[in-house]
Amino acid sequence: MSTRTPLIAGNWKMFKTCSEAVSTAAALVKSAADVSGRDVLIAPPYTALYPVSEVLAGSRVSLGAQNLFWEKEGAFTGEISAAMLASAGCRYVIIGHSERRQYFNETDETVNRRIQAALKGALIPVFCVGESEQARDSGQTFSVLDKQIKNGLKSFFAKDLEKLVIAYEPVWAIGTGKTASSRQAQEVHEFLRSLLDKSLGRELADSIRILYGGSVKPDNIAELMGMPDIDGALVGGASLNADTFSAIVHY
Ligand code: PEP
Repeated sequence: MSTRTPLIAGNWKMFKTCSEAVSTAAALVKSAADVSGRDVLIAPPYTALYPVSEVLAGSRVSLGAQNLFWEKEGAFTGEISAAMLASAGCRYVIIGHSERRQYFNETDETVNRRIQAALKGALIPVFCVGESEQARDSGQTFSVLDKQIKNGLKSFFAKDLEKLVIAYEPVWAIGTGKTASSRQAQEVHEFLRSLLDKSLGRELADSIRILYGGSVKPDNIAELMGMPDIDGALVGGASLNADTFSAIVHY
C-alpha cells in the first residue's frame, strides 16, 4: 500500500481576473472543507496569487504559481522570483509545463534552473514532463521522458528532492479531451518511478508523488486514481469551475 498522500492540483493557466479568481477560490474552500487524506492545490495567474492566498488562509487548499524565474532579483522585466511567490503565499510552483516549453521556448536546462530556484526558495516544484503525439506514435515515449527527467533533475541528490512532485502530462492529452487510458498512464508512471529508482534510489522513488495530467474530468479521475503509481492529478480546464474541480477532488 502506498503511503503517498494524493495531490489534486488545478492549473488555471491564463484565466480569471482577481475577482473571478477570488470567488472561485472561495467556493472551492467551502466545497473542499470536508476533504481528508489528500492535498489540494490551485495555481491561479500571478496577479491573483495574493488575493487568493487571503481566501485560502487556514483552509485545506494550498496555493501554487504557474512558473518562476531562477534569479533572485534584478533587471529581468516581466519575471518573478521564488521569494516573491513565497511572499504572495505560494507553497508550490508548476515548472516545465508543456505550454511553457512549446510557446516560450523553455528547455530541460532552464527547467532544471527553475527547479533549483524553487527548492532554494522553499517552494515545492511540480515538475511537468510528457511526450508529444508524434513521439508517442513513433515509439519514443520512454526515451523522451528519460531525457526530460535526467536533464530536469541533473545535479540533484535524493535528499534535495524529497518534496518534489512530478506531473506526467502527455502533450496530446492536454486540453484535447483525449485522456491517456489508465493503463497507458500507469505504464508511464511505473517507468518514471523506475527511472527515479535507478538514478536517485528506491526510497525517493517510492515516496515521490507522480501526478497524471491531460483532460482529467470528474468521470475519469476515479479510474486513474485506482492505478498503483498514480498519486494525483494536474487538472487544467476542469479546475476552472469550483463544482467540477470539487467533484474531482472528491473522487
Ligand atoms: C494542464 O494544463 O496541465 C492540463 C492537464 O490541462 P487539461 O486538464 O485541460 O487537459
